[in-house]
Amino acid sequence: MHEFSNAAPGAATEGGPLVVLVEDERSIAEPFLAALRRSGFRAELAPTGRDALALIRRSHPDVVLLDLGLPDMDGRDVCRQIRSESDVAIIMVTASGTVTDRVVGLELGADDYVVKPFATHEVIARIRAVLRRGRRDETGQREPLAVQDLRIDAGSRRVWRADAELDLTRKEFDLLLRLARDAGRVVTREELMSDVWDTNWFGSTKTLDVHIGWLRRKLGDDPDAPTYIRTVRGVGFELVVGDER
Ligand code: CA
Repeated sequence: MHEFSNAAPGAATEGGPLVVLVEDERSIAEPFLAALRRSGFRAELAPTGRDALALIRRSHPDVVLLDLGLPDMDGRDVCRQIRSESDVAIIMVTASGTVTDRVVGLELGADDYVVKPFATHEVIARIRAVLRRGRRDETGQREPLAVQDLRIDAGSRRVWRADAELDLTRKEFDLLLRLARDAGRVVTREELMSDVWDTNWFGSTKTLDVHIGWLRRKLGDDPDAPTYIRTVRGVGFELVVGDER
């Protein structure tokens, strides 16, 4: 396992986080590399599975965007091989109509997946989301998640707003952590009920709204004009990312 840099995700370090794009189709790769660079990332291309493994060993990227349809190797084997050597975030790219779902992706060790044809801005949002989920420091511990002025440490289950520690109940913490892991994206009510309350919820989800209300109060969020937790009526909630570029 290689060590990750200690730079905060998206921080203005030398050129930003490094993305390795594994893609054999130039018509997809070239505009996407350009879009990544415009968005503040460093980006390198590997057109084959073998190139990808060599490049990842050499350059220790922050994120690998891995097309599964490669000319020389099965992309799933490439994914397994990367994961056996590194904790780097992996986003799998699958062609529409192929049988690769989230479960298969997770079994292979991927962090997320997107389906072609994809919208560039959507993939870049996914890359930012996996970077925010936190990386490991030298001792293998996950570093705290940082969203706006919040720091959320999943390991010790502690949360700070600016420098003040917040006193959250177990469910409030679980809810905030779940939203933070997908910060900048709407997490549906169903996902929250299933992930935080561990239940397939077919009845009332009023308990969710009650906990969101308590969490907002502790965050100092005004429910009528929230700056942390945005309500998407009838869909779910989003932990808002402050300074998205
Ligand atoms: Ca391909």
